[in-house]
Amino acid sequence: MKVHWRSTHATRNTYAALSAACETQGFTLDPVTVPEKDVTCYSLNSRNERQLAPEIADADCITIAGGPYATACFREVARYADYVVVGEGEYTLPLLLAAIEEGAAHVPPGVATREGYRPAVSQVRLDAWPPFSQVKGYVEITRGCPFGCAYCQTPRIFGGAMRHRSIDQIARYASRFRDIRFVTPNALAYGSRGREPDLRKVRGLLQSLSGTIYFGTFPSEVRPEFISREAIALITTYCANTSIQFGAQSGSDAVLERLGRGHTVADVILAMEESLDAGLVPIVDMIVGFPFETDEDQYATGDLIRTITRRGKVHCHRFMPLPGTPLARDQPRHLAPGLAHLLGSLALRGRVTGSWSEPKIAFCGLPSHDRA
Ligand code: SF4
Repeated sequence: MKVHWRSTHATRNTYAALSAACETQGFTLDPVTVPEKDVTCYSLNSRNERQLAPEIADADCITIAGGPYATACFREVARYADYVVVGEGEYTLPLLLAAIEEGAAHVPPGVATREGYRPAVSQVRLDAWPPFSQVKGYVEITRGCPFGCAYCQTPRIFGGAMRHRSIDQIARYASRFRDIRFVTPNALAYGSRGREPDLRKVRGLLQSLSGTIYFGTFPSEVRPEFISREAIALITTYCANTSIQFGAQSGSDAVLERLGRGHTVADVILAMEESLDAGLVPIVDMIVGFPFETDEDQYATGDLIRTITRRGKVHCHRFMPLPGTPLARDQPRHLAPGLAHLLGSLALRGRVTGSWSEPKIAFCGLPSHDRA
């Protein structure tokens, strides 16, 4: 049976992990840009789903959809895809492929079809699956997040308990890179239960690696209250970063509280100062347009952005409702007068990057080479 992976730029790391998982069970996922027989697999997110849904519906082959959008909206996706892998795919996808090949009457748990859905019975243990094999991807060191930020899909897909890959396995796979980068919801939470850092574990990880390490920067950002003098010292001692990236999301404590962020604006300022003192440029993620923001909340965010950009940078995005999250049904609020102008002028000076204007811009679609 021939199995394919529908390539899109944003799903490269998922492809690396799932093709490695399928390989262990004897299936090769060949990349394609159009659906091909016998089976084509898709990873759907809120950005690519609108364009890929018609392609899946019209495909002249067996289609399997997974990813964050398919996980949150599996009933909807099962109307146009033959099978939907709900949640983590490493264990479920190879089992499903084996069932299709054998012509089995039933699908494994964790798969939705038009006929129904049985949830998966267990979570993936990261060490049981390689992070990549032939197709290289970033090494995922941690999965799951105990914080339940209202706009975020991560804890809804992967659960609230952090699961870590062992240092030995991370070191083995990282040795295949000259520049080492990781995937994690919070790099400084490595080895911990996620609410407070365990810096002995972080040190143990960093000491075990040889190569040029980037830690606490894309795609392994951190939370602001995890940034301390000791944590920063580990990064400046073992890593090559000249910046550190963390999420602030709002300059209003009322908004942070309502989002369930679990930190305050003061934590953000402290993190920024610790970073600058150690010579690391803070790059701070912000979101504007939360549905319950007031003009005052947005001006507080503008003030925080002004403060950060005096010596650091901001990566700013308009709020986007994601399926499966508590804010899934809410719409982005308009920007307060002057906020877009502030962001624009800071962008012209290279202090702010991102996309905060018209929400539809965030859905601008797949790059041309991804279009069928
Ligand atoms: S935004 Fe970050 S801290 Fe919040 S739930 Fe998502 S992964 Fe966790």
